[in-house]
Amino acid sequence: QDKRPKGNERADRATTEQVLDPRTRMILLQMLNRNVISEVNGIISTGKEANVYHAISVPAEDEDTKATAVQRAIKVYKTRILVFKDRERYVAGEHRFQRGYKKGNNREKVRQWAEKEYRNLKRVHAAGIPCPEPLHLRIHVLMMDFLGDKKGKAAPKLKDVTFESDNQDPQWVDKKWTALYLQLLEHMRVLYSTCRLVHGDLSEYNILYHQDKLWMIDVSQSVEHDHPRSLEFLRTDIKNVNDFFSRQGVDTLLDRVLFDFITAVESPVEKDAIAKALHHLFDDRPKTAEKDNDNEVFRKQFIPQTLDQVYDAERDAEQVAEGGKDTLVYRNLLPDSAFNKESEDNSGSEESDQSDNQDEETDSDGE
Ligand code: ADP
Ligand code: MG
Repeated sequence: QDKRPKGNERADRATTEQVLDPRTRMILLQMLNRNVISEVNGIISTGKEANVYHAISVPAEDEDTKATAVQRAIKVYKTRILVFKDRERYVAGEHRFQRGYKKGNNREKVRQWAEKEYRNLKRVHAAGIPCPEPLHLRIHVLMMDFLGDKKGKAAPKLKDVTFESDNQDPQWVDKKWTALYLQLLEHMRVLYSTCRLVHGDLSEYNILYHQDKLWMIDVSQSVEHDHPRSLEFLRTDIKNVNDFFSRQGVDTLLDRVLFDFITAVESPVEKDAIAKALHHLFDDRPKTAEKDNDNEVFRKQFIPQTLDQVYDAERDAEQVAEGGKDTLVYRNLLPDSAFNKESEDNSGSEESDQSDNQDEETDSDGE
């Protein structure tokens, strides 16, 4: 009959999707010939935009003994079936992307996404955030560290992680989730302050649990902190993270508090200091019954799209008058002095108006 078991269907699909297009096959062959990799194995993940394969690298001199065989992950962006989510919104306003990102040229787009992931991963890795180190990039094929066990089983996504309670300490599972939560917040702060990036798709789907740590992956859509919509993306990342950890029973920080901490110019940038400050924030967090409510308000609040909008006296005056400047979403984006800008600006602009007029007069005299 037609009723095949589910497993078979999945295997069939994986096989079909594994059929590589000639270009990709060429690139993989080149990588094999140049000894960048020595084997390409099965598929780890088939996604809408990319497939991830398991591979092995063995340096030439060890070919016989395979003594230093290392596992790799190879992410192959799909060039043909292009269902790139709404990628445009990540690209618009991204200065690194201004040149050459043409609508309609899929192959070029995909190449750029792979390059973007490679560069972002480099930065994330250099900042000491756990992530696979990117090792090789060739057009739309990216090789990186493999996260998983010795047998080639990939590390689980955070969404699939469960912990067993320990009889000795009934609180163990709760403590574990809280520790992981704080660890992730630390990484989010470093990502913003040191890498100057906002992940843009951070959730339990793009975090792997490996060696007792949380590893960030899938950073091709990550944007510069000065991208016009970076703060909006950051707010969504925070929501995803807080929602997930709330579901694991962690009494999370308010979205607003976390947003302030991550974006604050005055927050620490040193790793240890960040951890300390976060623990402090967490331990002292007010036991508010209003959390859901506050998050709901915050998630709808105005987020400035450009730095020019950050302090708009007309728009924000009322809010500042009612609740003080601390109620503004972007309160911590700027130092205190920025909020006195209004008065300085006024005196400043009067002066410059005068000199402008003088210039004009001189100019017209000359003509
Ligand atoms: P996308 O979501 O765009 O398909 P990801 O980068 O999120 O691509 O990768 C898809 C999946 O492949 C991940 O969820 C993870 O399970 C697996 N994966 C990706 N990179 C690695 C890696 N370096 N090591 C192990 N598994 C990985
Ligand atoms: Mg992903």
